[in-house]
Amino acid sequence: MLLQRRAIFALGLRMCSSQATTGPQTIEGARPSSDMTEFRQVFSKAKHIAIVTGAGVAAASGLPTFRGQHESWRKWKSQDLATPEAFSRYPSRVWEFYHYRRELVMDKKPTAAHYAIAECEARLRAQGRDVVVITQCIDDLHLKAGSKHVLKIHGNLMETRCVSCGHVHSNKHSPICAALKGTGSPDPNVADAQIPVDKLPRCEKKDCHGLLRPNVVFFGETLDSHVLTKVEKELEECDLCLVVGTSSIVYPAAMFGPRVASRGVPVAEFNLSTSPKTEYFTYHFTGPCETTLPTALAPLES
Ligand SMILES: [Zn+2]
Repeated sequence: MLLQRRAIFALGLRMCSSQATTGPQTIEGARPSSDMTEFRQVFSKAKHIAIVTGAGVAAASGLPTFRGQHESWRKWKSQDLATPEAFSRYPSRVWEFYHYRRELVMDKKPTAAHYAIAECEARLRAQGRDVVVITQCIDDLHLKAGSKHVLKIHGNLMETRCVSCGHVHSNKHSPICAALKGTGSPDPNVADAQIPVDKLPRCEKKDCHGLLRPNVVFFGETLDSHVLTKVEKELEECDLCLVVGTSSIVYPAAMFGPRVASRGVPVAEFNLSTSPKTEYFTYHFTGPCETTLPTALAPLES
């Protein structure tokens, strides 16, 4: 309980998005290094590696992140749809949005970045070393690639949760219910399907039949404290942290890397560009993570 409370205070529990309007304030003389040889030396000695991943890890798979300027669904941004208020007022519209996203994910394969992480975990495990993935992604591509130790802080698109009884269930049906078949087009000219609420996904538990929702954390919602407690432990125990494919603007995940860095532990960022948190890190490698990560995590020559 104490640890749980500490997790709440240390990390903050609500998911929120903070768009940085200015670039990172670079501290003179504190620029992160991009020396891969030096990083590889640190990597060779690490016993417990925490890898924090965001949407960028899946970008090469073709999955939209719903974060960019042009990534809207119909006329809405994900921040307009992925909220408890939107789900409560427009459950059919929100389910269409998530149905669209589920169908996209089912089509996609893991990227070279997902595979590099999964292979690294398996290789290091055989040497008695630990790798944990702490991901903001709600897709299942880390698991598809073979990662075993994955903490999904924003939930899972392939799970449902009953709003009445709270039951969480893995669900990979396509479509998830008959009424959603053929719906979910992102085209702004397409009208809402306006599916009656009793035709949306419903709980299969006996005597419940409550409305199901995607088991993901909506904006403004509380993160699962059990998952956060595990994350807290990993961040405290790791001796190397990688921050991969995240713009570091969604909290609390944006603070995971800086928190590890504040203990004096090396943190390496792999991203298309610098982020508002780059200045906190020891290393920064610019470029698509499906290119930089396989090099960084490749087996070491003996
Ligand atoms: Zn139920």
